[in-house]
Amino acid sequence: MEISHRAKDFQPVVDEAVALIKELLQVPEGYSVIFLGGGASLQFCQVPYNFLIKKAAYLNTGTWAKKAMKEAKLFGEVVEVASSADANYTYIPKGWTVPEDVDYLHITTNNTIYGTEIRKDLDVPVRLIGDMSSDIFSRPVDVAKYDCIYAGAQKNLAMAGVTVIIVKDDKLGMAPREIPTMLDYRTHVEKGSMFNTPPVVPIYSALENLRYLKNHGGVEAMDKLAHERADIVYGEIDRNKLFRGTVAEEDRSLMNLCFVMNDEYKELEKPFFDFATERGMVGIKGHRSVGGFRASCYNAMSIEGVNALVACMKEFEAQH
Ligand code: PLP
Repeated sequence: MEISHRAKDFQPVVDEAVALIKELLQVPEGYSVIFLGGGASLQFCQVPYNFLIKKAAYLNTGTWAKKAMKEAKLFGEVVEVASSADANYTYIPKGWTVPEDVDYLHITTNNTIYGTEIRKDLDVPVRLIGDMSSDIFSRPVDVAKYDCIYAGAQKNLAMAGVTVIIVKDDKLGMAPREIPTMLDYRTHVEKGSMFNTPPVVPIYSALENLRYLKNHGGVEAMDKLAHERADIVYGEIDRNKLFRGTVAEEDRSLMNLCFVMNDEYKELEKPFFDFATERGMVGIKGHRSVGGFRASCYNAMSIEGVNALVACMKEFEAQH
C-alpha cells in the first residue's frame, strides 16, 4: 500500500491496466485512457472545462445528470434535450432531438438511483460524452461515438478512489479558456496518469479485476451474465403478487433493479426488508428518493446471489 507511483514496480501496473481497458472495450486508435482521483463528480466539471466550447446538450435522466448539467452551466450554454423529471425519472425520455451545433451530448448511461439504463450507444448527429460510472465493463461499447467516457471505479471496476477516463486525443485543447493544470486532461495524458500521485492501490485493484474480466470472457460475458441475472429478478418482480417494478419495462436497468411493494401490501415494506436482511441480503434498500428496494447487480453479483434474493421474495409471499 505504500509503494511509490515512481517505483519501477508500479509503471507496469498502469501500463497493463491501460492496455486491458483498451483491449476489453476495443478502444480505437486516437484515444487515451487515464486514471484520476476526485470521483465521477469531478468529471461533471472537468468535462465541460475541457470539451465545452460554446454550447452543450444534456439528457436529464436524474440526479447525476442534473449534477453534471449544473457544472456545465459554469462554462457555457446548456441545452436540456429532454427530461423524465415529470415521472421521478422512471423512464428514459424518447423522441427528442439534439441541436446539431452543440459541442457534445452528455448522457448518463445507467441511472444508479432510479434503475433506468440506456444500454446502447445512441445514434445522434453529435459527439457523445458518457457517464458510465455504474455500467462500464458490463457490455461492449462503441467507443468511437464518444469524445469522452468516464466512470467512478467503485461499481464495476475497482475499489473506490479512482476514476477511469477515456478521451479522444484530438478533441483536447479546443476549449477557449485557460484550464488549471490538474484539471486539464492533457496534463494527465502526457504524463500517463503520473503527473502527481495517482490512487495507487485502487489502480492495482482495477488491474486485478481487468485480468479477471479478460479471463472470464470479457464484456460480452458480463453482458450475458447481466441479462441472465436481470431476467431472474425482474421475472420474479413481475410474477410475485407483493411487488412491482418502478421503471418503464423497456428502460429497466440491468445493473440496478428497482422495485416496491404493490399498493395493497405497502405496510409490508419494512417487514420484507427485515426478513431479507435476516437471510443475508445486503444493501437492498432503495435510494431515499425512490424508496422500496434496489437490487444492485454489478459484474461481481453471481447467479447464486440473485437466486437467493428471489428465494426470499417467494418465501415472503408464501407467508402473506
Ligand atoms: N454518476 C453515476 C452514474 C453514479 O452512480 C455516481 C455515484 O454513485 C456518480 C456519478 C458520482 O460518483 P462519485 O461518487 O465517484 O463522484
